[in-house]
Amino acid sequence: MTAKCTVTKKCGGCQYQGIPYQEQLKRKQKQEETLLKKFCKVEPIIGMENPYYYRNKVHSVFDRDRRGNVISGIYEANTHHVIPVENCLIEDQKSQEIIRTIRQMLKSFKIKTYDEDTGYGLLRHVMVRRGFQTGEIMVILVLGSPILPSKNNFVKALRKAHPEITTVILNVNDKKTSMVLGEWEKPIYGKGYIKDRLCGCTFRISPKSFYQVNPVQTERLYQTAIEYAGLTGKETVIDAYCGIGTIGLVAAKYVKKVIGVELNKDAVRDARMNAKDNKITNVEFRQGDAGEFMVKMASQGQKADVVFMDPPRAGSDQKFLASVVKLGAEKIVYVSCNPVTLKRDLEYLVKCGYEAKRIRPVDMFPFCDHVETVMLLTQHLA
Ligand code: SAH
Repeated sequence: MTAKCTVTKKCGGCQYQGIPYQEQLKRKQKQEETLLKKFCKVEPIIGMENPYYYRNKVHSVFDRDRRGNVISGIYEANTHHVIPVENCLIEDQKSQEIIRTIRQMLKSFKIKTYDEDTGYGLLRHVMVRRGFQTGEIMVILVLGSPILPSKNNFVKALRKAHPEITTVILNVNDKKTSMVLGEWEKPIYGKGYIKDRLCGCTFRISPKSFYQVNPVQTERLYQTAIEYAGLTGKETVIDAYCGIGTIGLVAAKYVKKVIGVELNKDAVRDARMNAKDNKITNVEFRQGDAGEFMVKMASQGQKADVVFMDPPRAGSDQKFLASVVKLGAEKIVYVSCNPVTLKRDLEYLVKCGYEAKRIRPVDMFPFCDHVETVMLLTQHLA
């Protein structure tokens, strides 16, 4: 099946739209080889069997067209002009259906869409997150102000159309910003979070917590990372940039102890609850900047055997990397969503005596030009 997207040129989200999937994989493999093969051989990219509708998080911005009809979709690349999207080929279909339902409900509930320039109107964005393994669904209504008129009836009507929805959250974003979610949030139905399962563990996910958007490939990503680490049960392991604790909690049963560090407070709260829910007791999670945390650990003379690190696209920083070296970690498993910053960080680590042993790209983002990489470095013992 080669499905066709009708808004690809305007959207710009899928740089590889129109290119056969096997060809996309080849290009990504080549890109990784060009950047990284001087460090070590690049193993074959792990692709998807079915590369469509893989995104578990769907965001839609709401607006009106020139005739005043409600539209929902995405911003045209580099603008705040909204392009209606009916069927995105990479986003979860059930979540897209929910967004269509909300669009149709606005008129009868007399809810106006938010105007970014004037601040007039109410509904600005809708975000839907679905646990692919649990089926739990979170709907976040991002508003310009905190009152949703007839909210109980709104939830009732929405759940009547989609009984799978397990929680509905109001979020307020009244700022001129390209961030979707604002600070304030309040559940108006359900618990305010969803759960999902990965690699045999259950994870609770709050609205602002990071969770990998392609859960099918995430299992393969984590399995590769844990296989690379070659764990024996004796290790003290750091899970840096740990989000809701996924990598560390999945690895916990193969090691002595896991210490996770993460900046986002909501994610750290989720990580701690996740340890409890999965009855994992050999883990602890710290909130703060990963670099600062590592500097502190190193200055106290603490040691770690393995460091899993999964930084955002900007990569890590020298403070962090220098401390990894100081902690004497024998192995580093670097999970990267940006091969350019990976290469930069790698050059530093190689200078400090680490050697690249294995590299494997994982296709987390079919049709997009982003590539995810797992990499093993070991300390080069003279
Ligand atoms: N390993 C997790 C999360 C990876 S995403 C997973 O696989 O789900 C990167 C995470 O780094 C995000 O949760 C983000 O909040 C966090 N982060 C960003 N900058 C950070 C910093 N300076 N220190 C610690 N965590 C940071």
